[in-house]
Amino acid sequence: MSNLKTAILIVSTTASKDPSTDSSGGILKDVFEREGGGQWEVVDIRIVGDEVLDIQRTITGWTDGAESPNVIITTGGTGFAVHDSTPEAVTPLLHKQAPGLVHGMLAASLAVTPFALMSRPVAGVRHKTIILTLPGSPKGARENLQSILKLLPHACLQAAGADSRTLHAGGVKKLEKDAGVGATPGHFHSHAHSHHGHSHGGHNHEHAMPIRHTAPAENPKSNDPSLGPTRRNRSSPYPMLSVDEAIKLIKEHTPAPKIVTAKVDGTLVGCVLAEDVTATEAVPAYRASIVDGYAVIAPEDGGSSKGVFPVASISHATPGEIPELKPGQITRITTGAPLPPGATSVVMVEDTVLKTMTDDGSEEKEVEILAEDVKSAENIREIGSDIKKDSVILRKGEEISAIGGELGLLASVGRAKVMVYKKPVIGVLSTGDEIIEHSRDGELRLGEVRDCNRPTIMSAARGWGFEVVDLGIARDKSRHLEETLRNGFRKVDVIITSGGVSMGELDLLKPTIERSLGGTIHFGRVSMKPGKPTTFATVPVKNNTGERFEKVIFSLPGNPVSAIVTFHLFVLPSLHQASGIAPAGLPKIQVTLDHEFRLDPQRAEYHRAIVTLGRDGVIHASSTGGQRSSRVGSLKSANALICLPAGKETLSKGSKIEALLMGKLKSEFDTL
Ligand code: AMP
Ligand code: MG
Repeated sequence: MSNLKTAILIVSTTASKDPSTDSSGGILKDVFEREGGGQWEVVDIRIVGDEVLDIQRTITGWTDGAESPNVIITTGGTGFAVHDSTPEAVTPLLHKQAPGLVHGMLAASLAVTPFALMSRPVAGVRHKTIILTLPGSPKGARENLQSILKLLPHACLQAAGADSRTLHAGGVKKLEKDAGVGATPGHFHSHAHSHHGHSHGGHNHEHAMPIRHTAPAENPKSNDPSLGPTRRNRSSPYPMLSVDEAIKLIKEHTPAPKIVTAKVDGTLVGCVLAEDVTATEAVPAYRASIVDGYAVIAPEDGGSSKGVFPVASISHATPGEIPELKPGQITRITTGAPLPPGATSVVMVEDTVLKTMTDDGSEEKEVEILAEDVKSAENIREIGSDIKKDSVILRKGEEISAIGGELGLLASVGRAKVMVYKKPVIGVLSTGDEIIEHSRDGELRLGEVRDCNRPTIMSAARGWGFEVVDLGIARDKSRHLEETLRNGFRKVDVIITSGGVSMGELDLLKPTIERSLGGTIHFGRVSMKPGKPTTFATVPVKNNTGERFEKVIFSLPGNPVSAIVTFHLFVLPSLHQASGIAPAGLPKIQVTLDHEFRLDPQRAEYHRAIVTLGRDGVIHASSTGGQRSSRVGSLKSANALICLPAGKETLSKGSKIEALLMGKLKSEFDTL
């Protein structure tokens, strides 16, 4: 029932000469036909150059005739270039201005790129036709049109002369419902909760912008939230995957690590090298003494090195010149100091005695060497004997540990910068109308729940060495959630949310990711305990330069234990992979059960446990107690997750089984 007519005017001097260079016309036609709810017919598409009169003639040809279309959109000529003149051509034709539509379009593109402000759109009505000027870039034009498309039918009816009292019977809510919009579209305001966490040098965030995908994903499985509780799915439409299948999908869809140049300092700890590092200097850079003693000239042909020698000079470990050592002399030298030219070896101070001193007794004059057969090069560190110049000291893929060995190597050869994989910056968001700041004063009102997940997940992510941005708490409203996620993706590479992934009508994460952000849900259900509704998706975004790529979002279950367990099981491997860390995820160890464990008949269980290296050399595991997924106490002191398979039996004490080590291994051996 296409009852609304639209005409498209492409304003482009290039396309007017060669129509094959235009792509906007087809794209805009597509938007009307595919996203316009079947209401639109594109009746004409024309191309003119950037000429005020040509533009005006074409438009009035449409608007001032008998068969005037309901809407005319132009694309192109809205910029600041000298020849850009579409707004100048259109403005005088308008009988009524429509700044609201202009505002809506600008706001929608501004959410995508600051360059939106470089467009000068106008909108309004001439006779019974609504006229809009869209930018010339196909993408910008499409986004602008999408942002107001749903509102156009109503405006058209009014412009065409429909009785506005009839039109508005039922109020704004009915209008919104008929148009299929929730509230003012294209209205993006930032929310109060988000603020930056710490940020450290050498890890610049990519300030990526979400792409507006007003077009719903091809086949969203998620609920359409506007249908309400009566028409939602009553069982999850997402296939139940095994943990291994889920991890495989994460591996597949986690973006490849990015390479950045980073300063060699403490912030490098936890980073993985993206290059082989070669020593550009030798260590030591000069022949150095290994001991405190006397630099000597070793006798050739096995002659005795014994004798009394004058101390001709002193070489301390300090930069500067040292006089050449002549035969029959010695030089006092300290550990690490350069050998004087001419010297061949060093005799330890322990192998010498003082023979004579200066008159004031403050200096050595002569020293007797007691060593009999000093050889050439004795007690000397040769140039490059610790690190050879041009040798590879660290390999691509090696991690810079906090222990210090890798930083030490880099520092010793004077490397100021290295190429590493950029660690993703992580945003953490809690969701739920019931969730309040954990620190809020006063008693809880009925239904309020303190936010336990956000502080916990943030600390876990920081503990694993990632920079974290606090994205606050989002309400259970599609639009608020969408905005929070969009804003979040401007600041971070990966978003971790908790809550809102179960089967309630207010569980909005999946629909928001699929329907509002145009994301792809790779899995939405995993056969595990706790953590069944864990959701993993990627969302298309683009950065300031217009480059498109995917960002990752993990929507973890709301129950605190489920959230932490699934963080470690699913999020961590993805973060590791994105940072170039291999193997990714928690290390697996074998443990021996200290007591019986009953298996869950349906789902694999990740049982919180304390594992300890016993005096018998065996790693023992015991449960932290009640494992209900809301009982965060089951995580207290836990340093491992025992991987219990699904099954009907009970594992007996002494059974050996795999566990994932989350924290430090406890030990029954004392260090002190
Ligand atoms: P949901 O998946 O949103 O239905 O949440 C499941 C359960 O987890 C509910 O009991 C929520 O109140 C609870 N929950 C959700 N988010 C949090 C949070 N950030 N802190 C503590 N509990 C939460
Ligand atoms: Mg909730």
